[in-house]
Amino acid sequence: MTEITANDPNRKTWVEVDEESDFPIQNLPFGIFSTKGEEKRVGVALGDKVIDVYRLAKEGYLDEGLGPDIYKNEYLNDFMSAGKEMTRKVRNRIGELFDENNNELRDMAADVQKILLDKESVTMHLPVKVGDYTDFYSSKEHATNVGTMFRDPDNALLPNWLHIPVGYHGRASSIVVSGTPIHRPKGQQKPNEDEPPVFGPCKLLDFELEMAFVTHDGNALGENIPIERADEHIFGMCLFNDWSARDIQKWEYVPLGPFLAKSFASSISPWIVTLDALEPSRCEGPEQNPAPLPYLKQSGKNNFDIELEVGITPPDSEETIVCNSNFKYMYWSMAQQLAHHSVNGCNIRCGDMMASGTISGPDRSAFGSMLEISWKGTQPVDMNDGSQRKFIQDGDTVTMRGHARANGVKIGFGEVKTEVLPAK
Ligand code: CA
Repeated sequence: MTEITANDPNRKTWVEVDEESDFPIQNLPFGIFSTKGEEKRVGVALGDKVIDVYRLAKEGYLDEGLGPDIYKNEYLNDFMSAGKEMTRKVRNRIGELFDENNNELRDMAADVQKILLDKESVTMHLPVKVGDYTDFYSSKEHATNVGTMFRDPDNALLPNWLHIPVGYHGRASSIVVSGTPIHRPKGQQKPNEDEPPVFGPCKLLDFELEMAFVTHDGNALGENIPIERADEHIFGMCLFNDWSARDIQKWEYVPLGPFLAKSFASSISPWIVTLDALEPSRCEGPEQNPAPLPYLKQSGKNNFDIELEVGITPPDSEETIVCNSNFKYMYWSMAQQLAHHSVNGCNIRCGDMMASGTISGPDRSAFGSMLEISWKGTQPVDMNDGSQRKFIQDGDTVTMRGHARANGVKIGFGEVKTEVLPAK
C-alpha cells in the first residue's frame, strides 16, 4: 500500500487558509459540488476554497490513471470504487500540488482561476449514492441511558449488547445533505397507556448525534471482511444526524425495532473526511469486557478522537450548544462493525453508509440526543434566549460540528445543519 504523504503536519500551502479552518492542507476531504450552469463534480475542500478536481485532472495535474471523466460525477461512488490505494494516491498528489514549495500549479494563474473556487460560489450536494444504510447502536453510555429510561436501571444493557455490535437496517432514500430542511413527521403514537393509538404530527422530535463511514468496494456475497482488513474498505467519515420521532418509536419498535420513527430523514455533512486524514487521531477505545469473540478481536488504536458538538438555534435567535461529546466514547470500533456486518456473508457494496449510533459521553453535557439530555422530557434545557427545550420545535435549526486534532493539526468535518419545518 502506498504511504500516506498528505498528512505531513509541517506542510504549508500557497493557498491562504485560516489557522482555525476545518480544512487545512492536511485534511483534503472529498465532496460533490456544482456551480451555476455547470454539472456536478468532485471537489476537495481547502480552507475557504473548493478545488475542482475535474478541472485539475482535465488540465493534466493528476496522472494517477483515472482520467478526468470520473470526477464529472453526481456522486463519489465511482471514485471510491477505484479503491483505497488509488484514492490515497490522488489525495497525496493534491496535497503535493498545493504545497507552498510546489510551483507546478501555483504559477499558472489561468489554471488556478479555473480550479480554485470560492466556497460561496458553489452548491454542495449529497456526496454519496447510498445503497444501503445501516445504523449501529455502539455507544455504551447511550444504550445504558435508553435502557435505564425505558426498561430497568439494574439491567440497562440487554444481554447481547457486550457481545454484538447491535445494529439495524435503516432507510437510504431519505438521507439528505446539510442545508436541506426536513418536515416534522406524522405517524401513530400512543400517548395514553389505556387508550387507543392516535395519528398526528410527532410531538417528541429528536436528533441523534452520530458519525457515519462510507465504504469502498466490499466483499462478494457469501464472503466476509476479516477485521484486520476492515479499514481498507473504509473510505471516510461524515457527521450524521439520525432524526428520530420518539413518540412514534416508542409505540412501533416492539418487536422488530425502529421503522417510521427513523426512516423520514437522516442528515449528513457534505464533506467526506478520509480515514487516511484521520490516522493521526487514532486512539484506544474503551476496554472491552467480556473479550469479544475471535472474529471481533483487535488490539491497538482502533478508535478516533473526534470532538463533537450539537447546537440548537430557535427561529431568529442565537444558538445554544446542548451537547459536547466525542467519537472516542464508542464501545465498538468501525472495524468491528464492518467485520460483524459481513461475517454472515452479507455483501458490502461501495457507497454503503454505516452510522455509529448516538454518541453519548459519561455525563449530561455529553449526551447525544434530547431524549437523554432532557431525560425523557423531565429536565428541560435552558436556552440562551430564555426559552426551554425538551425536544426539537418547529423552526429550530440543529447544527452538528466535529473535528479531530493531532500534531497541532485540526481535521474538521464542517457541519450538518438542518432546519425543522412544521408537519405537512
Ligand atoms: Ca440512530
